Amino acid sequence: MTEEQVIVGLEVHCQLDTMSKLFCGCSTDYRSDAPNTHVCPVCLGLPGAMPVLNKRSIEYAMRVAKALNCSVLPESEFSRKNYFYPDLDKAYQITQYDKPLAEGGYLEIESDEGGEKRIRITRIHVEEDPGRLVHRGNAERGKYSLVDYNRAGIPLIEIVSEPDMRSPKEARKFLNKLRATLEYLSVFDSEKEGSLRVDANISIKGSERVEVKNISSYKGVEKALLFEITRQKSLLRRGQKVDRETRHYLEARGVTQSSRSKEQEHDYRYFPEPDLRPLHVQSWVDGIVLPELPDARRERFIAQYGCSLNHARTLTGELRLANFFEKVVAADPKGLIPLADTWIADTLIGELNYRNMSVDAVDAAGFTELLTLLEQCIITDKSGIEVLRVMLDQRLNNQACETPSEIVERLNVRKVSTVTSELSLSYGVVPNPLQIAIAEVLTENPAAVEDFRKGKKGAFNFLIGQLMKKTRGCADPAELNRLLKEELTKKEV
Ligand SMILES: [Zn+2]
Repeated sequence: MTEEQVIVGLEVHCQLDTMSKLFCGCSTDYRSDAPNTHVCPVCLGLPGAMPVLNKRSIEYAMRVAKALNCSVLPESEFSRKNYFYPDLDKAYQITQYDKPLAEGGYLEIESDEGGEKRIRITRIHVEEDPGRLVHRGNAERGKYSLVDYNRAGIPLIEIVSEPDMRSPKEARKFLNKLRATLEYLSVFDSEKEGSLRVDANISIKGSERVEVKNISSYKGVEKALLFEITRQKSLLRRGQKVDRETRHYLEARGVTQSSRSKEQEHDYRYFPEPDLRPLHVQSWVDGIVLPELPDARRERFIAQYGCSLNHARTLTGELRLANFFEKVVAADPKGLIPLADTWIADTLIGELNYRNMSVDAVDAAGFTELLTLLEQCIITDKSGIEVLRVMLDQRLNNQACETPSEIVERLNVRKVSTVTSELSLSYGVVPNPLQIAIAEVLTENPAAVEDFRKGKKGAFNFLIGQLMKKTRGCADPAELNRLLKEELTKKEV
């Protein structure tokens, strides 16, 4: 059987990071407050209360539309979507239906094959968030549920993509790129809990499409899609068919489950919202100037700092990280760039992910000092990682934070001067930095040294590769070759 083609389209709901709600003056900063304290007659849907549109949220939505290359429609309109659910106090949601704010754009992602790939955007519309149900026990067996309307009326945009993604990995890349773009536009904060929710449409080419609702994390999307693809493929392999249905993603169990409700669009009885006038935004949208977006910043990092494409992608893929990088190199642009590039994009990110920490928690001045110690050859790369780990752990555990130099002294970490004096014993003279690098590489890769002695040519190239990495490509390759050969022959004797 040939590999079946996977088809994925996403509907992404993002909370716009405004100060007040979409149709009233209630504050959106509700997350640490008691339930039902950020409410008023409008967002509680009391009789006679009238919505007043928040201008800022429309401006934010238009920024997103422009950044995603969409056309903002000269006239758009709000509609009522009628249904009853306890989290929807008015029994209708104000959303946009047949006249959305914007249509027809695209977002470029890195495709699975490595090149750039365009994911088309069908439409972007503005709507209000419903409230939130809090289940006592669990949703199926709990005795009762509580409802919190603090979230009711928070401005959302829904971004609908065409079914252009071909794997869960591409869906993840689309979401990451979208998140970065929204953050660069200063309209969205991905670190706020529940600020992004995704519905995914997924099918195997030639069969029915399944909608998976209610995915509330970035990692959840990839997992839900992987589960759903496996489920659909195994049905097809057994000669069964995939039903067209809506399923819910159960995050804790990592599975999707068929949902009983079978609403169709016509069940919602959409009609134009009588309390709000149609939106005419043409002259307004023309005046919106976009800031530097992730792709432009990536190209600038390559041109201005000489970052590799991969490093530039990683560094600019998150606004906080890109800002952190520029803050660090601003201290000493010439000396620190080659170090900062690798140390942030590879080492620091790895250590942060391991601790589930955000780069916001890292003290830029301390990190710059660490890089300076490395740059001035005061400590070795290995010791640098040791010091970085201590710095992050202190921050993570809310301990008093030491400076890198204090950590170096306290732990008595291996300094370059120690390595140098050990080496000078065998050399009789103080060796140069290349010889230090060679000595380190040989100690770290005994198997390759052994292979070289057995006559394996590849081992020499491997060691040269390690050396280039260690010297960050700064050393003269011919000189490295000569010194490495000299050192290896000496050791053989
Ligand atoms: Zn309100």
